[in-house]
Amino acid sequence: MLLNAKHICKSYAGKNILDHVDLELQSGQVLGLLGENGAGKSTTMQIISGCLAADDGDIEIDGINLLEQPEAYRKQLGFLPEHPPVFADMHVNDYVTYAAKLRSIEKTDIKPHVDLAIERCNLESVLKKRIKHLSKGYQQRVGIAQAIVHQPKLVILDEPTVGLDPIQLEETRALIRTLAETSGVILSTHILQEVESCCDKVTLIKQGKVALHDSLSNIDSLHEVFLNTPC
Ligand code: ADP
Ligand code: MG
Repeated sequence: MLLNAKHICKSYAGKNILDHVDLELQSGQVLGLLGENGAGKSTTMQIISGCLAADDGDIEIDGINLLEQPEAYRKQLGFLPEHPPVFADMHVNDYVTYAAKLRSIEKTDIKPHVDLAIERCNLESVLKKRIKHLSKGYQQRVGIAQAIVHQPKLVILDEPTVGLDPIQLEETRALIRTLAETSGVILSTHILQEVESCCDKVTLIKQGKVALHDSLSNIDSLHEVFLNTPC
């Protein structure tokens, strides 16, 4: 098992935001974390990424426990938060190189790692551009490049296709599929079609609780639970 997250709980001011959320993922799979706005997707992803502390829960990536070995744990993952951590004034190449340095990649390995991330995210044509001058689709790819530059086993993408036009949407979904050739991927979305088009399995989250785990073998039941269960 690549990711094994058990009974994640989180509350704010006495209000339960996540209530015993479980997630499992094998390498080579794309898991869709599906839920309406406010369901708890971003909170779950921040916790799995080690950016936010849970109140309870047990999370391992490839057998490495978040609380027992936090540094080793974080090396295993790359994260694209809801608001990508890009610096608008930086050039693409400089930014991805900077992201590689933040990941403590050996000096001699930095360029090959950066070059591979750029190639995988198809950024060659915009290397010398400032991030603020890129389209939303390209900016999102830069965000994905920083998440994969250290070649993590798990890639976590929070709503990676929000705000993209239909062509960018298809390109980004295709890119996400290719990420699963070398990693496990979790993406969050509130769009059912997104799950159908690029995920191998889905965890449906409603009001901080897992409503359904499914391998997408039964799309009808997913439709029914997603659309018909009261929120
Ligand atoms: P999603 O990503 O599915 O839209 P979130 O994880 O962002 O959902 O939020 C889940 C719930 O937790 C929402 O009701 C949100 O208002 C609440 N929430 C998130 N962060 C905080 C916070 N820092 N303080 C209080 N409530 C929060
Ligand atoms: Mg969110």
